[in-house]
Amino acid sequence: MAQRILLHMTAPLREDFDISYHDIGEGFGPPRMALVAGLHGNELNGVFVLSRLAAFLTGVTRGLQPGLQLCHRVVIIPAVNILGLNTCQRHWPFDNTDINRMFPGYAAGETTQRIAHAVLEVTGPAQYRIDLHSAHLDFEELSHVRLYDPNEPERDLSRLFGLPAVIERRTNSVFTTTIGHAWKTYGGANFVLRAGYAGNLQLSHCERLFQALVAFLQRTGILLGPPVSQEPEEDVHYFTVGQTTRLVADLAGLFISNLEVGRWVQAGDRIGHVYDGFDGEQRAEIKTPVSGLLSGIRRQPLLFEGDLIARIQTR
Ligand SMILES: [Zn+2]
Repeated sequence: MAQRILLHMTAPLREDFDISYHDIGEGFGPPRMALVAGLHGNELNGVFVLSRLAAFLTGVTRGLQPGLQLCHRVVIIPAVNILGLNTCQRHWPFDNTDINRMFPGYAAGETTQRIAHAVLEVTGPAQYRIDLHSAHLDFEELSHVRLYDPNEPERDLSRLFGLPAVIERRTNSVFTTTIGHAWKTYGGANFVLRAGYAGNLQLSHCERLFQALVAFLQRTGILLGPPVSQEPEEDVHYFTVGQTTRLVADLAGLFISNLEVGRWVQAGDRIGHVYDGFDGEQRAEIKTPVSGLLSGIRRQPLLFEGDLIARIQTR
């Protein structure tokens, strides 16, 4: 295994800095799998999971995991927005750009264009590519696979993660400068894994993602050996476009809920309450109009009219 430099950068009034990545396993051809996290510098779950995965796979190559064998090259970039991560900022601090709006990038361009270009150079040749994200600061998402305009092989492969939900979305016709759009031009199979919320680290989501990635590595034959996870398998539920219902606030107040993401709700079930922040009076009881899987819920209590309260995946 090797730690390699993705990009070396200089800055006007500080020492140089690098974005590094792991190149793990044998082989001269292209990597079989490429994993990316931390395009957004405040999404810590993916960064932690990929750094742990790199340590785990490195341990495999050194014989520290008896019975396991890594058969193909895997490249892992745990922290793309290296400066944003130091200050828990989503965007690149120097110019406040979103690195996931800079693809395919440009080798001779501005800093974030060069970062995007370098990320593509390393990840593009891989057969399987995975980009990890969290929801924003105010909203928690279930650990799940997100597919954008997938092909049939991607639909089939997405089940190998063993995560409780695979959710299809249409590609955004406005934001065509994401890594996902850029990866599509290379072929292969592309996945987004999303879990938890930004600004902090949720260990239960991290554990889930780690198990999912190891399961995928094993089921695609990249990692050989007895199953690493001893956890019982959960059913995978597949939701296509049109099977997502959004609950949006029609009044303001303090939104309070103790529901966990990943639970099944029935139409008419309570999702939470909205209270008046001054006199504490209950202003509304928020109920779901549909039955389904609660795939996301608001964690920020300050609620304005029009804010997203929850997402429910319907059957
Ligand atoms: Zn993100």
